[in-house]
Amino acid sequence: MFRIGQGFDIHCLTEGRKLILGGVEISYEKGLLGHSDADALVHSIIDALLGALALGDIGTHFPDNDTKYKDINSLSLLKEAYNLIKINGYRINNLDNTIFAQEPKMKPYIPLMREKLAQILEINKDLISIKAKTMEGQDSVGHKQSIACQSIVLLVKNQV
Ligand SMILES: [Zn+2]
Repeated sequence: MFRIGQGFDIHCLTEGRKLILGGVEISYEKGLLGHSDADALVHSIIDALLGALALGDIGTHFPDNDTKYKDINSLSLLKEAYNLIKINGYRINNLDNTIFAQEPKMKPYIPLMREKLAQILEINKDLISIKAKTMEGQDSVGHKQSIACQSIVLLVKNQV
């Protein structure tokens, strides 16, 4: 039995913050604003995982008014979300993601992102796709005011 889930996240770019996507620190003059480390890619993956099993969303499980999550490494939240998937008897078939960013170039960082995500999600990195595109200068992403991410995951029920 298969379950599909999709997730989306967007954060504003601001000075004085680190840019972290997919658990990887990216060299850039700005970073994403948020209560946690503002890792928009990991947040969209969490929402896709939760969505696939209709378990609510990231805000329900990890409220941003909870001081426990202040500046937290989002990979630890991903681990918790993935645990819920395992508890429910599912594993990941494959995961496909798109990062929308006008700058900087994501390509050099994608292999490490895939490795980090593969480790936490306990799957081969070949089952994790991360694509990056600009917004052709349009909207807040194109104006370098934000970075957005979109994720789609397919879960498969473990045989009993
Ligand atoms: Zn977020």
